[in-house]
Amino acid sequence: METDCAQMQERLSNLRRTIHKCPELGFQEIETGKLIAKTLSDLGLEVQTNVNKTGVVGVLKGAKPGRTIAFRADMDALPIQELNETPYKSQKPNVMHACGHDGNTTILLGTAMLLCQQKDSLCGNVKFIFQPSEEAPPGGAKGMIEEGVLENPKVDAVVGVHVDTDHPIGKASVRFGAHTANADRIHIVIKGRGGHAAQPHKCVDPIYISAMVIQAIHGLPSRFVDPVEPFVVTLGKISGGDTFNVIPNDVEILGTVRTVTTETQDRVLEQIRLIVETIPKTYNGEGTIEVRRGYPVCINDAGISSLIQECCEAELGEDTVSVGTTPSMGGEDFAYFAQKVPSSVLMVGVRNEELGMVYPWHHARFDMDERGLVIGAKCLARIATTFLCRD
Ligand SMILES: [Zn+2]
Ligand SMILES: [Zn+2]
Repeated sequence: METDCAQMQERLSNLRRTIHKCPELGFQEIETGKLIAKTLSDLGLEVQTNVNKTGVVGVLKGAKPGRTIAFRADMDALPIQELNETPYKSQKPNVMHACGHDGNTTILLGTAMLLCQQKDSLCGNVKFIFQPSEEAPPGGAKGMIEEGVLENPKVDAVVGVHVDTDHPIGKASVRFGAHTANADRIHIVIKGRGGHAAQPHKCVDPIYISAMVIQAIHGLPSRFVDPVEPFVVTLGKISGGDTFNVIPNDVEILGTVRTVTTETQDRVLEQIRLIVETIPKTYNGEGTIEVRRGYPVCINDAGISSLIQECCEAELGEDTVSVGTTPSMGGEDFAYFAQKVPSSVLMVGVRNEELGMVYPWHHARFDMDERGLVIGAKCLARIATTFLCRD
């Protein structure tokens, strides 16, 4: 058994490193998809490729009939220049698996390897969904669902998996309730009338007006939303003006609004629109806003979260699974699966202080303790067998 485990570790580390060396951006996951499809078909799974462009789906049919559980991993990388100096560092300039989707993908492949060995005793099916383009909205999940990934066989539950450097190796976590937030984008333009810096009374200064608008928007969390409800607004980019002695014509502001209920989402976006349209008017300017709704809030199903907790504790031991009830305010298009069938996300701890694997997602030094690959695969395999043997 121990050599089995060492072999599996080596196999999964190698797979992950192959994917890590050749990262691909959203909807360009050609080589990654080929590697996935080959690994799955070598295991004897039915494989479907080009699902929503570059997605790959594998189905493992158990010997006996039963329900179907699906696992989902995302496969895309980010436009980041890797700063790690490892033998398996990214070979592509400005593209890097900085969110660990190489790990998520490998965990699913490992799960397929483990479950293949138990095929004869499986009651039902396991579907492996390798999804393109999680990082760039509109994302790859929606299109896969539209192409029927949750049908034939019909999927009864979906479990997502994500490696996580917030939790140490050997630990896992799962949330009850909201997993991630509604992640919407706003684009504001404040129009004024430019002129000489020494004659502001003959101009309409959009920089001054922007300051009022920004102030008002940042008042929303403290004065407008229930203090115990998660809500964040960040204005991440502001641009306007060229030099110290000229009042510019306009200012552009980009930001993001994160909420966990549709009611607050609608109220807050409407209030921001009012602020943007009315405050500039008071100063003879004009404000316009464009809202782009992003991924919706991802709600984990309590039953599936319990199943994840139970199986991970059985696999990893007591007190290894931390249970959260507050969401990450990030966005995640796994939300679209969760809207259709009971779903939840397993977070696999891959932090290792000694090895310096401590950097957060989307950091140019992100790396993971690869023992998490085997751990993740074992947990998912146990989740599958537990789910399928229950009615
Ligand atoms: Zn990410
Ligand atoms: Zn991610």
